Amino acid sequence: NQRVKNKVAVITGAGSGIGRAAAMKLAEHGAKIVLVDLLDERSEKTRQAIRDAGGEAIFADTDVSDPARVEQAMQEAAKQFGGIDILFANAGVNGTLAPIQHLEPEDWDRTLGVNLKGTFLSVKYALPHMTARGGSIVITSSINGNRKFTGFGMSAYSASKAGQVAFAKMAALELAHHRIRVNAICPGAIETNIGQNTHPTPEVNDIKIPVIYPEGNQPLERRAGHPNQVADLVLFLASDESSHITGTTVYIDGAESLL
Ligand code: NAD
Repeated sequence: NQRVKNKVAVITGAGSGIGRAAAMKLAEHGAKIVLVDLLDERSEKTRQAIRDAGGEAIFADTDVSDPARVEQAMQEAAKQFGGIDILFANAGVNGTLAPIQHLEPEDWDRTLGVNLKGTFLSVKYALPHMTARGGSIVITSSINGNRKFTGFGMSAYSASKAGQVAFAKMAALELAHHRIRVNAICPGAIETNIGQNTHPTPEVNDIKIPVIYPEGNQPLERRAGHPNQVADLVLFLASDESSHITGTTVYIDGAESLL
């Protein structure tokens, strides 16, 4: 039973972690996949894995904070597959972690540029290829910035993630008449490669205060979540099974944010 059969899905940050898991899952359920990520052999591996499993996928190397490149990537998607039905705006970085007085304006701009502006650009440039057919947009926010505020030194990250939820709600209302649904997901700690895009400064240790459970020790499973668990939620929100769900925020964190 293929739940997104013949839909065209653009996935940003598709080379790794949650994006990769979602790309594999949506492909398994019949979607044609456009992998959007920075140029990296990991995206090629994802593309190959989808093709090996009998699916269709192309790769558009793109920095999501670059408007011209994002516009081009969406055009490539539409040219290859005839339009866009599903956008998973998921690319993101933790960026520089520092107390506010040590956080440089350019660090702030970079984190907001990828996470928040990147989301806006992905939606903006996907829309010309979506409005005629309707569809589903899923945005990866985080519990950090919405329900949990113990990501020490993550003020820029948290602001970007809160911004994504607000943006998703505005977009849901604005795009309803095109039959485009927009939802945000808020994962807790998930086992991915995001640590590679995390740059703690020494000063961040000054603001760490003890927490009840160590990071990632969520109540339900006592471990970080798996990207596949998030991909199951993305598949549901991308498919017609969630046809009456828009403008909402779904927490997927094993109750981590309730601690
Ligand atoms: P990841 O690092 O494994 O994957 C992120 C992908 O985004 C990478 O392939 C990376 O190359 C890509 N990317 C980074 N900057 C980019 C840019 N400028 N343009 C295009 N692609 C870019 O991390 P992940 O954990 O899978 O992260 C996916 C999303 O999930 C992010 O938005 C992150 O904030 C969010 N998230 C992650 C966690 C977690 O614990 N891992 C928790 C909550 C939210």
